[in-house]
Amino acid sequence: MKLLEGKTALVFGVANDHSIAWGIAKSMHEHGARVAFSYASEALERRVRPLAESIDSTFVEKCDVTDDNQIEALFEKAKDELDSIDILVHAIAYAERDDLQGAFHQTSRAGFRLAMEISVYSYIALARAAKPLMGPGSSMLTLTYYGAQKAVPNYNVMGVAKAALEATTRYLAVDLGRDRIRANAISAGPVRTLSAAGVSGFKRMYREFTSYAPLGEPISIEDIGGAAVWLASDMASKVTGEVLFVDSGYNIVGIPESLE
Ligand code: NAP
Repeated sequence: MKLLEGKTALVFGVANDHSIAWGIAKSMHEHGARVAFSYASEALERRVRPLAESIDSTFVEKCDVTDDNQIEALFEKAKDELDSIDILVHAIAYAERDDLQGAFHQTSRAGFRLAMEISVYSYIALARAAKPLMGPGSSMLTLTYYGAQKAVPNYNVMGVAKAALEATTRYLAVDLGRDRIRANAISAGPVRTLSAAGVSGFKRMYREFTSYAPLGEPISIEDIGGAAVWLASDMASKVTGEVLFVDSGYNIVGIPESLE
């Protein structure tokens, strides 16, 4: 059964075939969605375009989300070429490497601003630009992490940004609910991607994750894609403002059994 037949998804945040956004795009395509892509910089085009073509996508456009003109131009093109959007996927985050290690209180003003702008404000900016193209029953989705809710070593400023992103999801859900547009977030367990490599100590965290998580299994980008398909489908038509954990159950554990 294909859950997204007849729907169009616009996906932000594919850097390569390890990206969570790519797992989501593939799963949505498998479920019948037409998928369109936006990538961050010229350097990424040669990686994103072949991936897009492999799932029959023709809309592959650059957009640096720190630039309002680029966002406006992107959605003008989307209006012309896609007509409407049923699913918006925001899988974008950035913080300076220095702010993803060591003491949190050393976070600089500029680093804080940058992380919040790219990782949080961009969801609001994209939601606003996408809204005119989104009808009743459509939905948007962002990606968050457990470090929003609990302090995680080295995640630092990104944990604060993710907390703001989760709050943003709730405010968008209320705002857009009047137009029957839904907004949700998936909180994913650790996945080896380019962004994750920027977090100091990620490798150790990744290794230990499976021994603490109830299901004892790592998270794949396809696992996240499956949850994203459900959230974007009509099966989840009354689910909005939620943070859905796709983390092998890691977040529900108080004291891991392996520490008994
Ligand atoms: P990724 O493959 O590196 O994707 C991050 C994307 O954000 C890249 O395509 C990156 O482009 C893009 N981006 C950064 N700055 C941008 C800008 N100014 N304009 C447009 N795009 C920009 O890493 P990922 O792990 O899949 O990350 C996707 C999302 O999942 C992020 O929100 C991340 O925090 C979240 N997440 C990841 C994990 C994990 O363990 N990997 C867990 C939970 C949540 P560039 O490469 O050009 O910077």
